[in-house]
This record gives sequence, structure tokens and C-alpha cells, in this order.
Amino acid sequence: MEERSKLVAGGNLLQAHAWKGMLEACGIGVELRGEALLGGIGELPVDLQDVELWVAESQYEAARAQLETLNSESPKWQCVKCHEMNEGNFELCWHCSAERSEQLS
Ligand SMILES: [Zn+2]
Repeated sequence: MEERSKLVAGGNLLQAHAWKGMLEACGIGVELRGEALLGGIGELPVDLQDVELWVAESQYEAARAQLETLNSESPKWQCVKCHEMNEGNFELCWHCSAERSEQLS
């Protein structure tokens, strides 16, 4: 058995599965562990479940780099009309509903 390193703990089940799919698409094998996987999943709200992602020791650095890329894919943006800051996943300004447009500087 190859040594495994714990990568991420404390995520919920949906988040963990999203990460797992993303990492596996990059050729990184992921094992999910956690109390949530031991049974009764259907009974619990997903946001109360603690899930850990484990990857092979040899792929740990690559996996961490991938997760950092994922987490930085949605940088905040500033509305060009009212100059409010918006979360990266917003397509419209929360303040004035202007369409998202990048300010090139
Ligand atoms: Zn705005």
C-alpha cells in the first residue's frame, strides 16, 4: 500500500465530491473518508458532515496546487458602474444589477 496523506478535512459531502471529481480529472486518485461515510448519510444534512479527502503521498503537492487553483478561480470583481465589490460567482452586481464587466487596468 502506498502511503497516503490527509489533504483536506472538515468539508461537507458536496464540496468533497466536487473536489474529488476535479482532482480525479487531473489524474489524482482521491479517497474520501469521514464519519459521514460510515452510514446514515440519508439522514443527515450534508452541511453537517465531516469529510476528509486523502491522496497518495506522491500526489499530495499536485493535489494541493489543484485545490488552490480551484479556490482562486473566482476572484472578487468591482462593478464598473457603482464600484461595489462583488463575489466571484456573481454575474450581476448585487448593488445596482449591472452586468459583470472586467475593469482592465
Ligand atoms: Zn454596481
